[in-house]
Amino acid sequence: MPVCFARVQTLHTDALVLRVVEFGESDRILHLLTPETAKLTAIAKGARRSKRRFGGTLDVFNHLRVGVVRRGISMARLEQAALVSASHEIRRDAARYAVACYLIELLDRLAPEGGARADARRLFSFALSALAALEARRPDARIRALLELRALDALGLRPELDACVRCGGGLGAGGVRFHVGEGGPLCAPCRQGVPEGATVAISLGTLRTLAQGLRFDVQALERLAMPAASIAEARRLLARFARFHLGVELQSERFLNEIIPSGEAAAG
Ligand SMILES: [Zn+2]
Repeated sequence: MPVCFARVQTLHTDALVLRVVEFGESDRILHLLTPETAKLTAIAKGARRSKRRFGGTLDVFNHLRVGVVRRGISMARLEQAALVSASHEIRRDAARYAVACYLIELLDRLAPEGGARADARRLFSFALSALAALEARRPDARIRALLELRALDALGLRPELDACVRCGGGLGAGGVRFHVGEGGPLCAPCRQGVPEGATVAISLGTLRTLAQGLRFDVQALERLAMPAASIAEARRLLARFARFHLGVELQSERFLNEIIPSGEAAAG
């Protein structure tokens, strides 16, 4: 009988903790986001029994430096973890915490395991800069919407915002309708025969502001002005668009909606 030698690979990388699940009597299972692999699921043996084993580093939002051993197709095993930075302000403030939980859950659900390294690096870099922005400043409804847009973009789900998603033509003047499943606005001729329920009303001004939101540095999004009516429109659109790709409501979404209602005016 042929003997199969599973290939053992040790990976030393930065990692962001997306989720921690208690497992058995003494272990934890971690969902990590890394710049090498995008999402990575790893078991931390003995993490519940011994606090010293990982030094209390295995918390959601923590940026770690980890050593992970992968053997064939079995689950990766966390061997070492050192804290690079923790998100103290996010843990102390309800608005920061609610947005961070939502973004992290979105990444946990939609980040691929493996895939192209350039995509993994882009996603990891977005996650770190979004958490840094939330550490630096309490988010309002506008920042919440813009960070959600950027998270979808980093996950490879960038909506079309500039032209008709079907024909690539201009959108004309006035209000347009955004097709949720096709991920972009429709011009007047392309809109004919499309059921209204498959679309969301949106103004050209809001589409333009969201397009600008894709060009700003994540840390600089606070400088992007957005009227209250645009924030409410953007939130409706992004909620429908995210839900379409997720297929479910995220656990953190209801909590976030209570802490930062959609129609809230931008602070400052
Ligand atoms: Zn068209």
